[in-house]
Amino acid sequence: MPVKAVLLDLDGVLYVGDKAIADAAWAVEQLHKRGFKLAGCTNTTTQPRRAIAEKLAALDIPLSVEDIDTPAALAVSRIGTHTARLFVRDSLREDFSGIREDKKHPEFVVMGDIGGEGYPPELLREIFVHVMDGAILLALHKNRFWQKTDGLHLDLGVFVTAAEYASDKQAEILGKPSADFFHGICRRLGVAPGEALMVGDDVESDIGGAQQAGLKTALVKTGKYRKEFVHKSGIRANLVLPSIADLPDALVLL
Ligand SMILES: [Mg+2]
Repeated sequence: MPVKAVLLDLDGVLYVGDKAIADAAWAVEQLHKRGFKLAGCTNTTTQPRRAIAEKLAALDIPLSVEDIDTPAALAVSRIGTHTARLFVRDSLREDFSGIREDKKHPEFVVMGDIGGEGYPPELLREIFVHVMDGAILLALHKNRFWQKTDGLHLDLGVFVTAAEYASDKQAEILGKPSADFFHGICRRLGVAPGEALMVGDDVESDIGGAQQAGLKTALVKTGKYRKEFVHKSGIRANLVLPSIADLPDALVLL
């Protein structure tokens, strides 16, 4: 099946920190011009969609707020009119504005990034008690680690796994690499999974996840890409590219 849609991971693919990857804006513009449907899909749970769109605009990368898919949006539709306890940064709360919060007996618990070095044991215990009382655990993603300018740090998945282990219940994962996340984006774009290409720098979450969901994949060697991670994973992307700038030319190979 020909590729009709391109899903772009943001951090590590289009930018690292506050700096755009060289020619990222040009590459996205080329994809627009060639008629591909585009989505920016990120596990970022520290910023609302509005702020992500503003950052892309500041870097001259042509993706608007409607083009951005986040786990928070998926969580909100999953919770619906039920009650929830939210463990998310204050900065993300505008994306959860319609949710009814219950801190004592919530029907859902949402685990997102809370800043610092993650969840302290007291907070993990509160989550554990809610889940033992019957709350459904939602995790905005389950990444193992992430890259900051000073090196690698533990990510949300470590703390979600602790809550799962203690309660012996599985969390529903609303970000990459969950197949639900990729299928939801394909549905929004009106393409079959086999008509979509996922571009990412995380071999497990972006590439492995998208392959499991039936998408084609392109791994870029920017951001958190490390050759040894790729070897260890055993995952082979359809395309391996030096950076997003090489994608417009490489698409003809698929
Ligand atoms: Mg990334």
